[in-house]
Amino acid sequence: MSAQPIKFGDLKRQHDAIRTEIDAAITRVLASGWYILGQEVGAFEQEFADYCGVAYGVGVASGADALYLALTALDVGPGDEIITAANACMYQTAAIVQTGVRPVLVDVDPTTYNLDPPAIEAALTPRTRAILPVHLYGRLADMPAINAIAERHGLAVIEDAAQAHGAWIVDAANRPRRAGAWGTLACFSFYPSKNLGALGDGGMVVTNNAALVERLRRLRQYGWGSKYVTVEVGGRNSRLDELQAAILRVKLRHLECWNAARRERAAWYAELLTSAPLMLPADAPGHVYHLYVIASDRRDDLRSHLTAEGIGCDIHYPIPAHLQPAYADLGCRPGALPQTEQLAGRILSLPLYPELTRAEVEQVAAAVRTFTG
Ligand SMILES: *Cc1c(COP(=O)(O)O)cnc(C)c1O
Repeated sequence: MSAQPIKFGDLKRQHDAIRTEIDAAITRVLASGWYILGQEVGAFEQEFADYCGVAYGVGVASGADALYLALTALDVGPGDEIITAANACMYQTAAIVQTGVRPVLVDVDPTTYNLDPPAIEAALTPRTRAILPVHLYGRLADMPAINAIAERHGLAVIEDAAQAHGAWIVDAANRPRRAGAWGTLACFSFYPSKNLGALGDGGMVVTNNAALVERLRRLRQYGWGSKYVTVEVGGRNSRLDELQAAILRVKLRHLECWNAARRERAAWYAELLTSAPLMLPADAPGHVYHLYVIASDRRDDLRSHLTAEGIGCDIHYPIPAHLQPAYADLGCRPGALPQTEQLAGRILSLPLYPELTRAEVEQVAAAVRTFTG
């Protein structure tokens, strides 16, 4: 008898488990008669900001919009540079380009896959305005080091925390501080497959800066200061709707539990794959494993093998930003980011979600082992 296939992701399991809570939230919004920017959005903004440990949240339509609006609120533009990583798909780099700023791509640390502070230092110029770290795969970038560089040079820090809801590292006083509570501004996505996901699109910018919140509230709604009064150029329609906010309020109550389940499954993989000739993710106490990413010199063959065994896997991400066809003019050539480029050819994401069973993790690990020996 052959084993059941294992999907790379399975959101239905998660929603089936909390179906009655979600139904109640949907019914409440339906009955309220108010569907855009109302009580649910306001409550979720405060609850999520509290969870992150910051003062304010501004709900927007997506993670991509959160990034674009955060940059717009900082008044960056042509002639400015922002330092970021090239291994996080194009999300944040595209937002930087949309504001007219030049993205300066630097290499990543080969064990954490996050921005490498010495590489940031080496890329600073008089035009640098901000640093934009991505907390890739659910692990925080080295924020104490990044914030120290930013402070020394008077730069803003924008966290792309779309993969890191609830992730943390300790601050100088040895207190855990979550993703979102480190930067000038931090951007989250609630795309369905994120650690905290809606049943559609959604995003949020969080910050402690009241003036930036004021601007973000205008920018997400046509640049209006009050109804029909436009006080900002560059506003758009990017609102989080009541229905998604109500659903996200339900799901936020489960986030800690789901993140703990992700960590438990990551520990199972580590236990079962420890002697395999692979690079396993470097664990850290506050890592929330949005993805479980291994690295292998024979990645493409391993991927084919797992696919043939009925195991879903994926590559996050196959093409670094500077090698994307539309971005050949970023001024960063092939070979310029050796760690980033090497990793792109070696990384492979295995199934990892809170509802995955021990038997399924064992099945995935066994399939990996029949390939690697
Ligand atoms: C998903 C993601 C985004 C984009 O979020 P959307 O809500 O899909 O627009 C941005 N950055 C990172 C790192 C992401 O993983």
